[in-house]
Amino acid sequence: MDSYDLVVIGGGPGGYVAAIRAAQLGMKTACVERWQNASGKGVLGGTCLNVGCIPSKALLDTSHHFEFLRQHAKEHGIDADARIDVARMQARKQKVVTTLTQGIAALFKKNKVTWLAGNGSLASSDTVCVTSADGKQTTVAARYILVATGSVPATIPPAPVDQKFIVDSTGALDFDAVPTTLGVIGAGVIGLELGSVWRRLGAEVVILEALPDFLATADRQIAKEAHKILAKQGLDIRLGAKVTATRVEGEMVVVDYELSGSAQSQCFDRVVVAVGRKPCTTGLGLEQVGIATDPRGFVVVDEHCHTGVGNVFAIGDCVRGPMLAHKASEEGVSVVERIAGQKPHLDFRLVPWIIYTWPEIAWVGDSEQAATAAGRRVRCGSFPFMASGRARAMGDTEGLVKIVADADDDSVLGVHVLGPNASELIAEAVAVMEFGGSAEDIARTVHGHPTLAEAVHEAALAVDGRAIHF
Ligand code: FAD
Ligand code: NAD
Repeated sequence: MDSYDLVVIGGGPGGYVAAIRAAQLGMKTACVERWQNASGKGVLGGTCLNVGCIPSKALLDTSHHFEFLRQHAKEHGIDADARIDVARMQARKQKVVTTLTQGIAALFKKNKVTWLAGNGSLASSDTVCVTSADGKQTTVAARYILVATGSVPATIPPAPVDQKFIVDSTGALDFDAVPTTLGVIGAGVIGLELGSVWRRLGAEVVILEALPDFLATADRQIAKEAHKILAKQGLDIRLGAKVTATRVEGEMVVVDYELSGSAQSQCFDRVVVAVGRKPCTTGLGLEQVGIATDPRGFVVVDEHCHTGVGNVFAIGDCVRGPMLAHKASEEGVSVVERIAGQKPHLDFRLVPWIIYTWPEIAWVGDSEQAATAAGRRVRCGSFPFMASGRARAMGDTEGLVKIVADADDDSVLGVHVLGPNASELIAEAVAVMEFGGSAEDIARTVHGHPTLAEAVHEAALAVDGRAIHF
């Protein structure tokens, strides 16, 4: 029987990053991954690279360029006659995915991580059984086991996914034509991102959201402003909408739902179900080795991702916490560094959230409401992008930066950005908060001119009531 220091089950951003870091630290490492691409070839990268972060951002970028050409190029003095070729857009997306997934295979080779292609399950707390696509079984021994099996789309009984008319996020990344009308169930991250993609390409998009609040976990001021901007772009977001039934009639999907107590019905060419994701933990043999899962199927772990059984750890989407690629990766790194005797530290409070609409929405730390509810006295400063020279030059003046600081010691409690490149701007906020910085620290830091980052600087000045340009 082959034996390893570490066997990782799952080659997504949690598992593959952990495997590479373990190999860097001198562990003999294997990673079991069962994913196969459309041609039946095994691939690494998990949800993130194959059907998540990367393909969705490829389509968001393409559709952003398209919308620029259609709606904004004129004001830059550019006359363009833009048409979308969906097949070429999808081929480009696939090329991006293939390049990156092959890149991970190359990184495994470089770092001497063994890729065991197949389905992994725990035979005991120190052996893993790998079943290849042709049914062949091998068992390997492991001093440590890391479960990183990720998640899959959640479903709801009134809208069963057939991947033709009613699709999940994977289906919505793969449309071969722009639907004339698109219904989306769920105004969360996926609903907003993929809803934006197809709206920009010409679909009429209606998003049905069960909750009465838009982006319930975001800062209220940011959520309200984002809702307004997205609605102006044409995303028809209906809050408090409860889907009761769907049926395919001819080539259309009829969706029945309740809104403010009245029964409604609407026909769409396609419907996307984007109501969250659920952990992928069945068939792993967890129960037979005594590893607990919670009622929703998440592997139960402590703050160091230990399952409480032998040397078995679990990370990423299959355990508690936000279902984000960077959270999964950092958890994986911290587990293997701890195994190697280091003392890594991961602050879950400082995991940034980013929604890649345009303008983008990004935040880290507490919203004004959460900080206040936690009993903090806060001082907030905000700065609108319409007062930023760089945003004006770009023609991207919607949104704002808002900083929530502690009124007593000025420490930054949260930073919220709705604006162009918010995904990049939030990194400064995360770094400042990691170092326990204050609004004044940001205010006293020299920011290049003209940059969008100056809006973060100005929002920090605004905490003390002394923004210069607004
Ligand atoms: P996964 O990426 O799900 O990987 C788990 C891997 O384990 C899979 O490859 C699976 O095949 C494998 N596996 C499962 N069971 C077994 C088994 N028994 N044997 C062998 N292999 C197994 N997050 C972000 O941070 N930013 C984004 O922009 C973003 N965009 C997204 C867009 C979409 C459309 C979706 C669906 C998700 C997006 N996410 C994003 C979420 C992100 O993809 C996940 O949080 C991330 O992939 C979780 O990483 P993971 O390693 O825990 O799990
Ligand atoms: P989500 O949790 O972000 O949003 C789901 C939405 O669906 C919620 O607003 C919820 O209230 C609503 N909902 C639930 N049941 C409903 C119902 N029956 N009818 C109508 N609405 C309903 O989940 P998601 O958008 O499916 O994405 C899953 C996860 O994937 C995200 O939570 C996130 O962790 C990850 N993700 C991240 C990114 C990113 O970081 N940019 C992008 C995509 C996905």
